Parts: sequence; structure tokens; C-alpha cells
Amino acid sequence: MQKTNIPYIGFSWNPIAMRCTPCSPGCAHCWHLKRADMLAKNPMIDNTPPDSLQDAYAGIVGPTLVQSRLKIPGGKPKRIGVQFMGDLFHKDVTDDQIQEIWQLCRNSHHTYLWLTKRIDRALKWANLTERTWTPNIHIGVSICTQAEADEKVPILLSIPAAVRFVSVEPMLEKVSLRRPSARGRSFRAGDWINGLSWCVAGCESGPGRRPAKIEWFRDLRDQCEMAGTPYFLKQMDVDGKIISMPKLDGKIYQEFPQTIGNMNES
Ligand code: SF4
Repeated sequence: MQKTNIPYIGFSWNPIAMRCTPCSPGCAHCWHLKRADMLAKNPMIDNTPPDSLQDAYAGIVGPTLVQSRLKIPGGKPKRIGVQFMGDLFHKDVTDDQIQEIWQLCRNSHHTYLWLTKRIDRALKWANLTERTWTPNIHIGVSICTQAEADEKVPILLSIPAAVRFVSVEPMLEKVSLRRPSARGRSFRAGDWINGLSWCVAGCESGPGRRPAKIEWFRDLRDQCEMAGTPYFLKQMDVDGKIISMPKLDGKIYQEFPQTIGNMNES
């Protein structure tokens, strides 16, 4: 587990060594795959079976649960992003591996963010056995286009977790989190966004980044405000420059689900 500069979590935890595969337009400039390439060639990384971590990052062997990473730290409650280095619900991660991580999370006093692009697999896994989602495991879907929102947000909302969130990052076009039948009409209580606990948004960064208009972030902010859904604006392109935690209409949107507060404690 290590500190991270992702502003809505304090720590990232990657218990699985893995190589993900692209599954969305948002994967075009995946930082994980670049990092996995580096780790696969790093002689300091243990490649002794049964771990074979270099091979796991190279994709030569499947996702590998790293025993040395399974110890949960004590101390003050932390907000922890789980397996942001890859995707916990990738098809090659086994149900047993997910279950082991689930057990560790649910018995811990920290808050865990499970963010995936593969929310259909998350739902299948969640339905395997009757699960009680503890309030400290927050399930989120990562989307970047309207088509992805239309396909994936209803699936997210069928998972009975206490906190369900959407991350629109990288935002590649204007995205509505309202039911298609409601768009263009006044706000309705039954819209998808009303069932969400939280919404994160951000533009793409790095070489070859695709543009994102400020009006798209403003529109999503307006949807969140109408629904009373907390909005976290992580980064935005302002006059050709990527600004972390930017002001939008004079305000920094650093809101969190009501259940958790916004402390990143060490
Ligand atoms: S799902 Fe995430 S980790 Fe996997 S390829 Fe896409 S961007 Fe990379």
C-alpha cells in the first residue's frame, strides 16, 4: 500500500500483479500498461515462482495475488483505491482472488474504493453468493462516453452496495447521467444520478491527450447539483493546461459521499 497523488484517495493498494487489456475508448493512453511494461523488465521485481511477478506484469502468466501485499495496515482510517494498477474485475482475475480481497476489505476499518471498467463482471461476481456490502467498500464504474454511461450505469445501480459512484475520466464527450427518456426534460427524482452517491470527473492528461471542454464538466456539475449528488472535479484542461483540482465558475469541487468525509489520513 502506498501514498498516491490521486486527490480523492490517500493511498493505493494493488494486491494483484497483473497486466490488464483495453476494453474502452478510455484505455487508449493507459498509464497502467506503460508501468506494467517497465515492471516486467525490472530485475528488482521478484520473478520466483509461484509469484512470477515480472511474468504477471508481462501477461505471460495470469493475475497473481502477492502474499506480501495482503497485510492491512493499522492506524487512522484511510481512503484506499483498490487495484487501480489494472482492473479488479478483469476476466483473468479469479473469483477466489476477488473474494480474498473482499474479505480483507470488509474486515478492515479503512474505506476501499473498487473502481472498474468491467461493472458487468462485478455484478456477476456480486451475485455469486449472497453478499452484504459493508459501508466501507465503495463500488464505482469508470466511463468516458455517453454510450458507456448508458450501458454501464444501470448495471452499477443494480449492485446493492452502500456507496455507488461514477468516475467520468477521461471525459471524452458530454455525458448525461439521466435516463435517456428523461433527457431534455426537467429533472426527475428517478434519474440514474439520483441513485449515485458520488460523481468524479476529469480530463485526460499526458502525451496525445484528447481535449475535453469546460462546458462538459459544468453540465455534469449541474446534473449533480440538481440531484444533490456530491461532485469531485479532479482535473480539467484550462486554456491548454491541465489543472488539478481546478476552479469551475469560481469554486473548487471537492465533494465526497456523505458517509465518509474528505480526510486522507496517514
Ligand atoms: S481497464 Fe484501466 S487498466 Fe485496464 S487497459 Fe483500460 S485503462 Fe488500462
